[in-house]
Formats: sequence, C-alpha cells, structure tokens
Amino acid sequence: MRQIAIYGKGGIGKSTTTQNLTAGLGEMGKHIMIVGCDPKADSTRLVLGGLAQKSVLDTLREEGEEVELDSILKPGVFGIRCVESGGPEPGVGCAGRGIITSINMLESLGAYTSDLDYVFYDVLGDVVCGGFAMPIREGKAQEIYIVASGEMMALYAANNICKGVQKYANTGGCRLGGIICNSRKVDGEKELLEAFAQELGSQLIYFVPRDNMVQRAEINKSTVIAFEPECDQAAAYRGLANAIDSNDMFVVPKPMVQDRLEEILMEHGILDI
Ligand code: ADP
Ligand code: MG
Repeated sequence: MRQIAIYGKGGIGKSTTTQNLTAGLGEMGKHIMIVGCDPKADSTRLVLGGLAQKSVLDTLREEGEEVELDSILKPGVFGIRCVESGGPEPGVGCAGRGIITSINMLESLGAYTSDLDYVFYDVLGDVVCGGFAMPIREGKAQEIYIVASGEMMALYAANNICKGVQKYANTGGCRLGGIICNSRKVDGEKELLEAFAQELGSQLIYFVPRDNMVQRAEINKSTVIAFEPECDQAAAYRGLANAIDSNDMFVVPKPMVQDRLEEILMEHGILDI
C-alpha cells in the first residue's frame, strides 16, 4: 500500500488533481482511498458525483463515538473510497486536529484494508505545520507530491512545504516524489518548474495542462476521465497516474533560500522587472 500526501498552495488544484489522477489509477484497476484533509471537505466531490459526503468530525459531533465505517467512507467512481475529515466549527479549535481524529478513527474502524494499492491524503495549506503535517509527521504517508505552477506564490509555497518535508523526513521517513505542475499558462512554465524541481533535488513528475474541460467536468460533478474519457485532458491525467504509478525517485528535498528562488524565477523571465 502506497500512502501519498498531496500538498500545495490553496487553490492551486490539489483536490482537482488528486481526484482526476485517482480516476486514472482507478481505471487501471487500482484500489484507492482518498482522505480529504481540508476543513472545506471538498476533496472527493468529483469522485462521488457531487454527493455531499458527511465529514468524520460532523459525524462524530452528531452521532457520538459509535461511528460505523459506512457512514464516513463512501465508494465513488471506479470504486474509489472517499473520506472527508472535515473541520471544527469556524473559529473554534485547530483544524489540524480533525485530520488526527479522522486517521485514528479510520484505523480503528479497519478502513486500511490490505487490498488497497493507494491511500491519498489531500492536505490543505501553504505550510506544513501542526495537524496538517500529521500524515507525514506520523509516518502515515511516506510519499509526497507538491502541486505548483509557474506563479511566484505557488513556488514560494512549494519551497516552504519542502522545508516542512525536510524536517519530518528524519522522524517520519517521508520522501518527496516530485512536483506536479498544474499549469497556469505562465510563459516558460515547464522549464521554470523543471529548474525549480532540480534545485530541490527532485523532479517535475508531470505537467498537467490548463483546460476548460476540467471546469466542464466539475460542473457535471465528475472527473474528466469519467465525463469525457477520450479528451486530451483525460489523457493528461492518465499520464500523471502512470508517472506516479511507475515513479522510483524519492528524495529528501533541499529547499532553497529566498534569493536562490528569486534567481531561478528571474532566469526564467517571470521576475523580469
Ligand atoms: P485546491 O484543492 O488546491 O484548493 P482545487 O482543486 O479546488 O484547489 O482547484 C481550484 C479550481 O481550479 C478548481 O475548482 C478547478 O476548476 C480549477 N482547476 C484546477 N486544475 C485545473 C486545470 N488543470 N485546468 C483548469 N482548471 C483547473
Ligand atoms: Mg482542495
């Protein structure tokens, strides 16, 4: 069982990419569970066809401790098993706690069955701190991918996340499997992301194009592969699924100092001011 955490700046496309990529793996016959670790609880909507998934924390609040696995884990397209950890009531408590509670609950309810090929954690945040580090801190996820784009803030966030990964690599044993570029159509984006990943000692594992088909599938509460299996974007997500399935490059990333990051950005033209 490979346990994979997906990190990246808010809004960069973690949930979209995770669901479309797991659809690709599901289509290959892999057995997968997605654990949404964002208080927004929107990590599994496309896989579930829009079904409002009740989060683990809401279920605990409403039903008490006697939770059944069926009420927090729902199967979606290609049999992908979906869980949303959820969050505390706004303004109350630490959102990261929900992740810890959820993973513990899933373990005690026997959700991590031996037939699973993959567990994906879709984790919110620009930094890896507190509860949001839980999947890697506790050694649940051994493998990390960071979703980024050629936009400066996405790369700043990715570099910060690498600082957290580096820190927990020693204790939890987690490794960076690569950077996924979710394109924002920035000039020279692929080369920039390649240079960035190389500087980290990692790789650009895949370049996912920006395509309105993603929005069309999203409005239809579906992954691209399920919605329009023959389109180019579906092929891109299959490509990403294959790249991850056959990946054998796992490293402790070497985050860069701010000046070096800005140098790389400048070399590729986007800080040319
Ligand atoms: P995150 O989970 O990182 O906060 P989301 O996955 O919710 O981000 O993505 C935000 C929005 O970006 C989505 O609603 C989706 O419409 C859009 N999006 C993500 N990836 C792509 C893409 N490759 N092409 C077009 N739109 C995309
Ligand atoms: Mg998300």
